[in-house]
Amino acid sequence: MMKRQHTVAIVLAAGQGKRMGTKIQKQYLEIAGRPVLFYSLAVFQNSPLIDEIILVTGEGQEEYCKKEIVEKYSFTKVGKIVTGGKERYESVYHALCAVERTEGIVFIHDGARPLAEEEILERTLRDAEKYHACVAAMPVKDTIKIADGEDFAKATPDRRSLWMIQTPQVFEIPLIKEAYTRLMQRPEEEIQVTDDAMVAEQILGTRVKLTEGSYRNIKITTPDDLPVAELYVKQMREKR
Ligand code: C5P
Repeated sequence: MMKRQHTVAIVLAAGQGKRMGTKIQKQYLEIAGRPVLFYSLAVFQNSPLIDEIILVTGEGQEEYCKKEIVEKYSFTKVGKIVTGGKERYESVYHALCAVERTEGIVFIHDGARPLAEEEILERTLRDAEKYHACVAAMPVKDTIKIADGEDFAKATPDRRSLWMIQTPQVFEIPLIKEAYTRLMQRPEEEIQVTDDAMVAEQILGTRVKLTEGSYRNIKITTPDDLPVAELYVKQMREKR
């Protein structure tokens, strides 16, 4: 695939990972001998579709990330290491402020998602160029229920209309910068966003395309996810 515009990848690794229950943050836990964040960065480093990477780390972890991740594994595309914020959307905003280009395409990716593949970058870039905004997503496999406040089933939405949303989430740079700038002008207590697409949808009314991701593109959230990720990493190595 030929790319037509400048492309930036923002890789987010400033979360606390409380659901993991480990002392060490999940982005630094190891899968097959390397930190989770290594794999999340490698897909962008190795892709001909990506020009530069902005890495977002927790406060005080900038030097550690620079030495132990960026320099150790020669991630030459990482041009900036930015300090994240308390919430994910704040981390994204800090990174967007560090994007110097006013035109082009930005990929926003969870550092805790080590199994994105080149094909996903290709599909999302193609859709972002066509539709302005897209997210990697997959149809849900399970039935999903909405619970009342006491853990009883209240409603069962039609499964055919439900998708699991992943990253990368990919946007035209001016569109997502505008959406986040306007989001940050709102009072903090009114901000309830869990992904970037929501910001574009709610603030600009953008129609965000759901682009095929992959069922392997899991986010490392709880300890159960690690052995699964390890298996996938080993399978991907064998494929190469
Ligand atoms: O917490 P959750 O799993 O949804 O986090 C998704 C991604 O966002 C992770 O890679 C995490 O490091 C990142 N994050 C961040 N800054 C925060 C919270 C989460 O960069 N304040």
